[in-house]
Amino acid sequence: GDVDQRCQLLVLGSGPGGYTAAFRAADLGMDVIMVERYPVIGGVCLNVGCIPSKALLHSAQVIEEAEEFERHGIQFGKPEIDLKKLAGYKDGVVKKLTMGLKHLAKQRKVTVVQGVGRFTSPNTLAVSSDEGEQVIGFEQAIVAVGSRPVHLPSFPWDDERVMDSTGALELRDIPERLLVVGGGIIGLEMACVYDALGSAVTVCELSSDLMPGADRDLVKPLEKRIKGRYENIFTGTKVTAAEATDEGIRVSFEGGKAPEQDTFDRVLVAVGRLPNGGGIEAEAAGLQVDEHGFIKVDKQMRTNVSHIFAIGDVVGGPMLAHKATHEAKVAAEVAAGQKSHFDARAIPSVAYTHPEVAWMGLTETEAKKQGIEYTKGVFPWAANGRAISVGGESGVTKLLLDEHNRVIGAGIVGPNAGELIAEPTLALEMGADVEDLGLTVHPHPTLSETVCFAAEVAHGSITDIL
Ligand code: FAD
Repeated sequence: GDVDQRCQLLVLGSGPGGYTAAFRAADLGMDVIMVERYPVIGGVCLNVGCIPSKALLHSAQVIEEAEEFERHGIQFGKPEIDLKKLAGYKDGVVKKLTMGLKHLAKQRKVTVVQGVGRFTSPNTLAVSSDEGEQVIGFEQAIVAVGSRPVHLPSFPWDDERVMDSTGALELRDIPERLLVVGGGIIGLEMACVYDALGSAVTVCELSSDLMPGADRDLVKPLEKRIKGRYENIFTGTKVTAAEATDEGIRVSFEGGKAPEQDTFDRVLVAVGRLPNGGGIEAEAAGLQVDEHGFIKVDKQMRTNVSHIFAIGDVVGGPMLAHKATHEAKVAAEVAAGQKSHFDARAIPSVAYTHPEVAWMGLTETEAKKQGIEYTKGVFPWAANGRAISVGGESGVTKLLLDEHNRVIGAGIVGPNAGELIAEPTLALEMGADVEDLGLTVHPHPTLSETVCFAAEVAHGSITDIL
């Protein structure tokens, strides 16, 4: 068939993986076309993921802090929430970023084509939109099609009271009673938002603990706080059925301490995400996609077809934006002829709940499971002046060390844990040991001192903390 446009590099998808790859390749002198299904670029992260959720979590934090100020002798009264305005604030944050991206694409002469892309051969992609179909010819391609929320099949998805994370971020109303199915990062973040807005929140998690993957001692302070605020937290509990009724969504539970049935005004399903590799007619390009929709790649982000790369959520591993952007640079650089490869030693995970929970590298749970030897230094924030003054006494900073006292993992819970985890991550990347951390002068009084102190605890230079 005829080709309508040609490029050296085609990028399919415009999320953090796609736009980072497109921009890096353009900076390296390649001529790039980026194809995106939606009229706005930025993917899940900017439009319906990281950014809008963090905007709302900030508003939630302001509400919670205002409540807590009563202890300081400052009364703000019950917050009056204008939901339309709040949604507008969130949309404004998103818009600033997507407009910025559009500008950056233009600056670099990256052509953005709107439409749904599917491969038609190893060197052509057909893009269909309302305006019709066009075929783009390419020398190399980077697949960055991301992921989508899992929709449990037993739920009445045609009822707008059943939501996935995208629906929950729309803030259509503040339900009196909200059920969050899934106690992972996304479920707990959205629970935090709706709790602050005034919903009575119930969380239902299938496994025996909230936030599986994180060490228990890190989740405990969060659990303690939300247990006092939420209506119910059911762990080890399965939702077996959900049905739309006039009164609400009637849900059946099995296991744990949950009742057999209960009715909620809204239900948020946050039970995981599925890769989008199955929807691009990859076989036409000879590209292998597994039965779940994941695309396998090597350290250079190359697929089984040597001129086609894949990055981000669609290649598996932690589904995180910062993983996608790092992989994106590697793929773009390799496509441009450089010898890059992905060799991050640690990819930090952060739950932006109140308090935040962050971890990177080895966890104690993993170490025990795999029989890896380690020692640790733990510093409770109750011994840090700044933590006490910002209501962070329940925080903990923990470093895991190998036999040479080098940092191999870290976990932090408390306000700003997501910012603080960057330092141990750098330590791990650089092969720093506890003395490097302990001898680095940290500003006082800050939460960052807890990293220094955890290192000193591990080193034995602090023994009696409390
Ligand atoms: P995506 O961002 O999914 O982008 C893929 C793009 O490809 C989409 O725009 C899609 O429309 C497009 N596309 C797909 N198929 C086609 C096709 N056939 N043709 C044309 N276009 C196509 N991560 C973090 O690191 N930190 C966070 O705080 C965080 N919070 C999150 C909160 C929520 C509620 C959610 C849902 C996710 C969150 N994530 C977070 C995860 C993060 O959003 C993803 O890891 C990240 O967006 C993955 O980037 P990506 O480029 O691989 O794909």
